[in-house]
Amino acid sequence: MRETTPKPVIFTDLDGTLLDEQYQWDAAVLALEWLRRSHIPVVFCSSKTRAEQEFFRQAMNCFHPFIVENGSAIFLPQGYFPFGVGGKITDGYELVVLGKPATYVRHILAKIRQQTGWELAGYADMSLAEVAQITGLPPKMAALAMQREYSETIVTRLLPEQVAHLELELAAAGLQMVSGGRFYTVTGTGADKGRAVQFLAGLYEQAYGRILTIGIGDSPNDTPMLAAVERPFLVQRPDYSWLNIPEIPVTKVKGVGPHGWQHIIQQLQKNT
Ligand SMILES: [Mg+2]
Repeated sequence: MRETTPKPVIFTDLDGTLLDEQYQWDAAVLALEWLRRSHIPVVFCSSKTRAEQEFFRQAMNCFHPFIVENGSAIFLPQGYFPFGVGGKITDGYELVVLGKPATYVRHILAKIRQQTGWELAGYADMSLAEVAQITGLPPKMAALAMQREYSETIVTRLLPEQVAHLELELAAAGLQMVSGGRFYTVTGTGADKGRAVQFLAGLYEQAYGRILTIGIGDSPNDTPMLAAVERPFLVQRPDYSWLNIPEIPVTKVKGVGPHGWQHIIQQLQKNT
């Protein structure tokens, strides 16, 4: 068989990785441009919604498949691969769902709220102004973040015993809850960034033959994505620290967010 150079495929987190704290990516513009010219796919893999990611796809001129709401669903532009992937056709995408619909998540949360009397406030119960205030997002971005299709974010502060009870109740309904720092995100148990990355990597392999999967992240919820790629990278966080994940042989790169991102791509450029 003929030896060929494997085709790189980039899987990247958005917040704190390709985007800085002000949701800007100036430092990575040249890198994105080179990747586009080199036909190297850049797959967003983030907790962000479809609406939010569509905004950044347009703004960055980056039209590859993308993974939304913590691995809840994969959106593939229709016709992106020269074969069907068995997904549902919707709005010009082929859609593969790993999680559960947000309506179901909210229904279960409402039931638990009724049983326990706990507040359990989510984005769906709040006004745009409230979500903008509590997240610090500009109202325009908060509106996109509220367009949840597969998850709900709980903003109520919870005691450890409440968290334990909730986790049990949610698990019984096929749901899971992850802490994202201040808030909790509830998704279907099938939602998994790692599984979503593996699924897409399989399709790229089918399309291109040998591929080299590269993952770039900054925080704990990127761990499943980084574990699923051949070359996992971490960029620096705003305090110049790196996430500590000894279980994964990750390369720590100098540069906060998009600055580190640019360095990783420059390295790739040198080796191609
Ligand atoms: Mg992040």
